[in-house]
Amino acid sequence: MTTISLGIEGTAHSFGVGIVTSEGKILSNEWDMLKPDKGGIHPREASRHHSEIGPTIISEAVNKAGIGFRDIDIIAFSRGPGLGPSLRTTATIARTLALKLDIPLVDVNHCVAHIEIGCLESKFNDPVTVYVSGGNTQVIAFAGGRFRTFGETLDIAIGNMLDVLGRELGMGFPAGPIIETIAKDGENYHNLPYSVKGMDLSYSGMLTAAKKLHSENVSIPDICFSVQEIAFGMLAEVAERAVAHTKKSEILLTGGVARNNRLTEILTGVSERHEVEFHRVSPSLAGDQGAMIAWNGILQYKAGHQISVENSHVLPKWRTDDQDIIWRQSL
Ligand code: AMP
Ligand code: MG
Repeated sequence: MTTISLGIEGTAHSFGVGIVTSEGKILSNEWDMLKPDKGGIHPREASRHHSEIGPTIISEAVNKAGIGFRDIDIIAFSRGPGLGPSLRTTATIARTLALKLDIPLVDVNHCVAHIEIGCLESKFNDPVTVYVSGGNTQVIAFAGGRFRTFGETLDIAIGNMLDVLGRELGMGFPAGPIIETIAKDGENYHNLPYSVKGMDLSYSGMLTAAKKLHSENVSIPDICFSVQEIAFGMLAEVAERAVAHTKKSEILLTGGVARNNRLTEILTGVSERHEVEFHRVSPSLAGDQGAMIAWNGILQYKAGHQISVENSHVLPKWRTDDQDIIWRQSL
C-alpha cells in the first residue's frame, strides 16, 4: 500500500514542503526563501519568515499534489542541523500537523536527506557524496551503518564564502550564481590560500585574501575566476581521496552549490579519472526543499522509526554521522 509523506524543511532561510509517495514519486515540492535586503540572514528573521509563510506553502503543496490533508500518512520534518529558531518554528508546525491529523511524526537529518533524495533521483546505491551549500560543505560516504563525514569545512561553508564575498563585491543574494557567470570573463589567475588539511577544508582564509585582492583593484571577473578554480579544486582533491579510500563507484554532487557548472565539470573529471559514475542532483532537488525530507521520512518510517511529539526537540548541531541508518543494509 502506498504511504504518502508530507515533509517540511526549515533548517535555515528556506521553508519548503514536499509531498512524496513510498514509490518515490514527488507529488509536489513548494518552497520560499527569505532574501535579506542587505547583510546576512538573522536567525530570528528566518524563523519569522517560516511562521508567516508556512501555512501558505503547506496548502500550496497539498493542492498541487492533488490530495487532501486526510490522504497524508506521515509528517516528516528537518530536526537538524541548522539555526535554532528556524528549526523550532519548523518543528512546531510539523508537530501541530501530526497531532491534528493524528498521524506519525518522523524526524529527519537534513544532510542525510540531501544524500537520499540524490540516490532516489540518480538510482545510485552507495555514492561518495559531495554536499555543498550555504551552510554545509561535506564529503560523505556510507560505512559501518552510518553516513560518515570523510571531510568537511573547518570554518565557513563554501556557499557562505561565495555569498559573503559577493556582498563585498556589490552583488545581490545569493551570490553563487552571479559569481559563476562573472567568472567566465576572468582571464588572470591570482593565487589564493589553497587550504586542505587532511580530508578537511577551510574557506575563511580564501575569503579574506579575495577581499584583499578587491581592495588592490584586481578585476572582479579575475577574483571570481580564481576563487572558483581554487575553492572547487580543493573539493575535488578531497572527493578524489574519498573515492580512492572507500573504493566506491559513484560520486553524487548535491546542495545549492551543485548548481555550479564549473564545479560539475571539475568533479566529472575526477569521476572519469577514477572510472566511477557521476551524478549532479537536478536544481529543483539540489537546494533545501521539502521533498527530500518527505522521502527520508518514508525510508525511516518503513524501517520502523517514528518519534513522539514529547521527544521531538530540535538538534541544531545534529551531525551527519550521528544517526543509525536503519533503512540501509550495513556495508
Ligand atoms: P542551499 O543552502 O542548499 O539552499 O544553497 C544555497 C547556496 O547555493 C547559496 O550559498 C548560493 O550562493 C549557492 N549557489 C546557488 N547557485 C549557485 C551556483 N550556480 N554556483 C555557486 N553557488 C551557487
Ligand atoms: Mg542544505
